[in-house]
Amino acid sequence: MGGRFLSIGECMVELSQADDGHLRKGFAGDTFNTAWYARACLPEDWAIDYFTALGDDAMSDEMIAFMSSAGIGTQSIRRLRGKTPGLYMINLKDGERSFSYWRDSSAARQLATDGDALRAAIEASDVLYFSGITLAILSREDAFTLLAELRRAKAAGKLVAFDPNLRPRLWSSLDAMHTMIAEGARAATLVMPSYDDEAAHFSDDSIAATIRRYRQYGAAMVVVKNGPDGATIGDGAQETLVPAVKVVKVIDTTSAGDSFNGAFLAHYLQHKDAVTAAGFAAKIAAKVIQEYGALIPHEKLKTVR
Ligand code: ADP
Repeated sequence: MGGRFLSIGECMVELSQADDGHLRKGFAGDTFNTAWYARACLPEDWAIDYFTALGDDAMSDEMIAFMSSAGIGTQSIRRLRGKTPGLYMINLKDGERSFSYWRDSSAARQLATDGDALRAAIEASDVLYFSGITLAILSREDAFTLLAELRRAKAAGKLVAFDPNLRPRLWSSLDAMHTMIAEGARAATLVMPSYDDEAAHFSDDSIAATIRRYRQYGAAMVVVKNGPDGATIGDGAQETLVPAVKVVKVIDTTSAGDSFNGAFLAHYLQHKDAVTAAGFAAKIAAKVIQEYGALIPHEKLKTVR
C-alpha cells in the first residue's frame, strides 16, 4: 500500500561548466534532490510531490516541466507574479568546486506565506520531508507557520523527516540557526543529520552526542550520516552502525546525503526496518558519488537492491 510523500523546500536553477566551456543548465536543491531519489526508489503506488513557490516566468515553467518529467507531482507549487527561481553556479578551479548563489529574492522564500495552501498540501500527504535550508530561507514568521503545520502532521501520527543541513551562511546568526534547527527537530519524527556539520556547528564530540541532542529536541529516531564511515541509527536506546559501501574512486559527492535520505525513506516506508533501509541507502549514495552532478538518472539506480 502506497501513499503520498511531500518534500518542502527550494529547487534552484543550476549552472555548471560543460567540457567545451559552455554553461549547462540544470535544476537542483537539497529537498528536491531527496524527492528525486525517493521517486527513483519507490514503486508507482507512491506519489512523490514537491512543495515550493516559483515565479510566473519561463524558467519557472521549465523547472515545473522538469519535475513532472521525473514523475514528481507539482500540483501544490505556488506561482507568484513577478518572481523568479533562485540560481546557483558551480565554479571549477584547479579541480576544486565552489558555489555562487543568487537566491536572496527567490520565489521559494515565500513558500509559506499562504498558510492555507501549506496546510492543504501537508494534510493531503502521509509523509513529510524538509530541511534546515527550507527553514533558513523563510522569514521567522513563515518558518513558524511551516513548523506549526509540521507539528500537526506529527501529532496526527505522520512520518516527518528533517535533515538539519546546517548552512551558517544562510542564517542571520549561529544563535538563530541553533534555535530554529531545534524547532525543526521538535516538529520531526526522524532527523537525518551529517556528523561533520553537527560536530562543526553544534560542537558535538561524538555521534552518540548528536543522537542524544536530537532525541532531546523530540525526534523519535535519528540517523547520523558520516561519509565513508557509514551511518548510525539511534532508535530508542539502541544505536546501530551501518557501514558505507567502499568506493575506490569518488567522482563527485554532491547529493550524497540527499540521495541517502531519499533512498533511506523509500526503503523504510516499504519495509519499516531502519537498518536494512540504511544499507540500501548506502548503496544508492555510493552509486551517486561515482557520477557527476546532483541528480543521477533513475534508470542507473534500478539495479541497486
Ligand atoms: P552529506 O553529503 O550530507 O555531508 P555524508 O557525506 O555523510 O552526507 O554522506 C552521506 C552518505 O553517502 C554516507 O552515509 C555514505 O553512505 C555515503 N558516502 C559519502 N561519502 C562516501 C564515500 N567516500 N564512500 C562511500 N560512501 C560515501
